[in-house]
Amino acid sequence: MKYVSTRPSERKVDAAQAIVAGISHEGGLYVPESFPTFAPSDIQNMADMPYAARAKEVLSAFLTDYTPQELEECAQGAYAAERFGSDPAPVRQVADMHVLELWHGPTHAFKDMALQMLPRLMTRAVKKTKMDKEVLILVATSGDTGKAALEGFCGVEGTQVGVFYPVDGVSPAQKLQMITQEGKNVHVCAVEGNFDDAQTGVKRIFGDEGFAGELSGKGIVLSSANSINWGRLAPQVAYYFSAYADLIKSGAVEMGDEVNFCVPTGNFGNILAAYYAKRMGLPVGRLICASNENNVLYDFICQGVYDANRPFHKTTSPSMDILISSNLERLLFELCGRDQERVAQWMQALKTGGVYAVGEEVRAELARSFDAGWAGDEKALQAIARVQKSFGYTMDPHTAVAWAVAEEYRARTKDARPMVVVSTASPYKFSRSVLGALTGEAAVQELDEFACADELERVSGLTMPDSLRALRTKKQLHTGVVQPKDMMDEVRRWTE
Ligand SMILES: *Cc1c(COP(=O)(O)O)cnc(C)c1O
Repeated sequence: MKYVSTRPSERKVDAAQAIVAGISHEGGLYVPESFPTFAPSDIQNMADMPYAARAKEVLSAFLTDYTPQELEECAQGAYAAERFGSDPAPVRQVADMHVLELWHGPTHAFKDMALQMLPRLMTRAVKKTKMDKEVLILVATSGDTGKAALEGFCGVEGTQVGVFYPVDGVSPAQKLQMITQEGKNVHVCAVEGNFDDAQTGVKRIFGDEGFAGELSGKGIVLSSANSINWGRLAPQVAYYFSAYADLIKSGAVEMGDEVNFCVPTGNFGNILAAYYAKRMGLPVGRLICASNENNVLYDFICQGVYDANRPFHKTTSPSMDILISSNLERLLFELCGRDQERVAQWMQALKTGGVYAVGEEVRAELARSFDAGWAGDEKALQAIARVQKSFGYTMDPHTAVAWAVAEEYRARTKDARPMVVVSTASPYKFSRSVLGALTGEAAVQELDEFACADELERVSGLTMPDSLRALRTKKQLHTGVVQPKDMMDEVRRWTE
């Protein structure tokens, strides 16, 4: 399987090259040249496999330059019980919804599903491509990617990892997770601004050839652990197959029955993986894109116009506070018949004017697979309270956005196919918001972050993860803050 760029380029590369590079030369994103397909019997067979084996099946179809032995090691290592417990991606039945929980990894957000795998793929890719340089993984994070990347790459030979996060754009637990990270090859710095500022700054560093030359002189090459990296997306495709296999196993569906997925969306990586799964033969009905108040994707899916010129809202689901959704580029590439020129024009228009329109044909193609909805803070917090009160199930604010949108979708369309709500974080990463939803704003005002978590444990009955409890006593090691324009200098300091 070769990989091609979403923007004008003749180049075709192996998966290992795509993973090491992160982004293609001309600024495009790597996509598989074609979609491998799984027959119904292949999917049926997954029902009796543990998660690591399911992941290996999916990865084998994409990463054909890795040996089966290598992928076996990667999957067994990444999804080992000491990292994810007995089931990395369980599907829970909550009332008439199926909830796919993706937050049982070391940092308690769905980013672990890919970021425990990526370092394993990366170190092998470095060997395959015979690159004799150290890889510096640069990350812009809206909260969860940063910690998951630090945890994934910490101590990994031949790599360093550097994380930029928006100074006031992440939850207290997310921030503490990052600034207490130990390890010799890790760097963390806050950026004055929001996630888009941090992401734009990182993209600028990636695009600066002079700087790349400077780093090269120090024996360093940059790569990305954001979901623009193919090595992030491929592992995410696996859990959609896994969810379906679980539904077969539990008898909730029979092979071939279509299911809908409702995905809380920010950078469009998670839901794009679901679209890829559909293209590979997984019986998926609708993919419902759930946004918070930063509903640029909702408007795009409804109207075919992507317009990032709008106020940025800080919400209780900060990992979705994004106006420039990187992975949408990969979907556009598929929807317009893989026309690299057109994708480049849209991305140029986005860069210069913050807006582009895709036209009726592409919009119609989009509507064949996607639906969309959005829920503001109030609706999401009400969903947390309602679901907890009625069914004893506690959701984090991102999952709650998806739940509210899934309910609204059903009421609006009367679509009766099974619905899988994708659950992306542990409620304890957002204790204050979740507790506030359950007991009222007034009750949490006097409490500090840790008291909120304790009280949440009492009220919800859900056990707090040990690593989040341990944050209270950890030393804060990374306290730097920079302006967006100074991010490159910060990287220079890391590599001195
Ligand atoms: C990253 C994240 C999202 C958004 O995922 P995308 O792949 O960026 O669409 C949603 N919820 C949580 C908790 C996240 O960490």
